[in-house]
Amino acid sequence: MIYTDIHTHTTFSEDGISSPEEMIAAARQKGVLHYGISDHFDYDYQVLPFSADGKTPSFIDAKAYFSFMRALQERLLHSAPDFHLWIGAEFGFLPDPRCYDEYARIVRDYQPDFVVNSVHVAGDCDCWFAPYFEGKSKERAYRAYLETVRNSLDAPYRYDIVAHIGYVARNAPYADKKLRYADFSDVLDDILRTIVARGKILEVNTSSRQAGSDFLPDADILTRYFQLGGRKISVSSDAHDVSRVCEKYETVLSALKRIGFSYLTVPTRTGELQISIL
Ligand SMILES: [Zn+2]
Ligand SMILES: [Zn+2]
Repeated sequence: MIYTDIHTHTTFSEDGISSPEEMIAAARQKGVLHYGISDHFDYDYQVLPFSADGKTPSFIDAKAYFSFMRALQERLLHSAPDFHLWIGAEFGFLPDPRCYDEYARIVRDYQPDFVVNSVHVAGDCDCWFAPYFEGKSKERAYRAYLETVRNSLDAPYRYDIVAHIGYVARNAPYADKKLRYADFSDVLDDILRTIVARGKILEVNTSSRQAGSDFLPDADILTRYFQLGGRKISVSSDAHDVSRVCEKYETVLSALKRIGFSYLTVPTRTGELQISIL
């Protein structure tokens, strides 16, 4: 049994590869109990005066997305009552009132089951791309990213999950890419304490790419979160195609149990579910 894979993508995202039906079929075939789809709402890219990789991605058609997904959800409610599909959104954070207004409007108009709060852009550049790192030491590049993550926790719209802390390391150019708690304990403590104080859910994301860890954030940061009283955890593959659905799920679950976590948290519109992993 695989309990959850909450933050995943479909072809509604610009970089999605598999269709919603294909992703759901893969999840059901792997025996997932709670499956979430959270396609990209990158309004940050609409506001910033730059383009990623030579092109500015188009913004998702929110109306088409939610009406298609809600119909799928309704159908599955009847045809597969033991499989729970949750329809969410991944909001790309940018400290700009235009982003705040758009994300607040989406929450108001479409009432997603859950919202994933993600930092991709720090300063004025997505830290997936090489220009972000130009002329920056690892310390400077990672700290600027982490300070943006801290700012994102103050976002004035609803969000439930704090996504992929360590995203900056996925495509960093340094020989030692790993983001370690010991190197950034001050800002990481601020982030983790704020997540705990505000009752948000910390995501463990298995799309670590070249980050030097099996999952983001790594066990040292998850251990500190637990020490600070953090108990709400979400496990996600961040899959954009069927091959990665539930990837490294058992690895993460073992690590979480070793640290002491006993349940996963699934946010819904009507409250949070606690799924025991013991
Ligand atoms: Zn993301
Ligand atoms: Zn994602």
